[in-house]
Amino acid sequence: MSRIAFIGLGHMGGPMALNLSRAGHELVVFDLVPAAIKTLTDAGARAAQTAQDAVKGAEVVISMLPASQHVEGLYLSETDLLAHIDPSSLVLECSTISPESARKVAQAAQARGIRMIDAPVSGGTGGAVAGTLTFIVGGDAAALEAAMPILEKMGKNIFHAGAAGAGQVAKICNNMLLGILMAGTSEALSLGVANGLDPKVLSDIIAKSSGRNWATELYNPWPGVMENAPASKAYAGGFGVDLMLKDLGLAAESALHARATIPLGELARNLYSLHSAQGNGRLDFSSILNLFKK
Ligand code: NAD
Repeated sequence: MSRIAFIGLGHMGGPMALNLSRAGHELVVFDLVPAAIKTLTDAGARAAQTAQDAVKGAEVVISMLPASQHVEGLYLSETDLLAHIDPSSLVLECSTISPESARKVAQAAQARGIRMIDAPVSGGTGGAVAGTLTFIVGGDAAALEAAMPILEKMGKNIFHAGAAGAGQVAKICNNMLLGILMAGTSEALSLGVANGLDPKVLSDIIAKSSGRNWATELYNPWPGVMENAPASKAYAGGFGVDLMLKDLGLAAESALHARATIPLGELARNLYSLHSAQGNGRLDFSSILNLFKK
């Protein structure tokens, strides 16, 4: 069993850390918000006062933060955490950030002799709780192999996308498609309901027809159709509108960088941007339905 420092215990990091603790690993946890730590300390983890304190003596360091600026701030600028991590440690950076940021932090880690992989996840909060996440890894194959026993306690499918930053590129492509599919599903359901259909009946039909997708199977945006989906809990929890907007922004940056064309991704980015500007940034992203609902 490993001594693990886990930093960032939000909607995703909290349940991921809990699965590692339940698997018998020794966890030291840190989050800027003290309330986020409680579930972990109740389960036997030790709370650190600072991120530097958390990584002292850690064999594995895991971070799950909102965006690039938080990750760079943690490892490089503000907290300068890499200077406090033992070179024999393995760092698993699981946040969704820009490929450039992932490469920058990985290069700085490498310069200090620290092995680091970018390992963003897919599968939502349900996957984090159930330990069935998909990990999309960028970095050295040997570092990934060393990380496997830890990743397997949090996820079911583990892919090696390529060198440092490649995990983020693949994750960004996936989330751009997810943003488009959630907006499209919301539009289709709203059209059906506006024409007199029951949203549950229409959802059941689509879930078994050619329009089916992750939203119709597991994360229906219409309230009441799926008991456990954020839509049935007033869009609380889940994956925030502003996090989806961040990912669509990363897709736009990547498209610009590679001179790729992403008209549907750009349209989705504008829709989530409008929805966020109307005060919905902290709701689950499936609340995009409200833009279409009559
Ligand atoms: P969240 O906002 O719920 O959690 C982030 C946590 O990080 C918060 O508790 C915050 O206090 C903490 N934090 C921020 N800066 C910190 C710092 N410097 N030190 C310590 N703690 C710090 O976000 P989330 O939904 O858990 O998402 C985390 C990441 O996972 C994001 O990059 C997101 O895009 C990605 N992601 C989320 C989902 C989802 O369904 N929520 C799914 C896949 C991927």
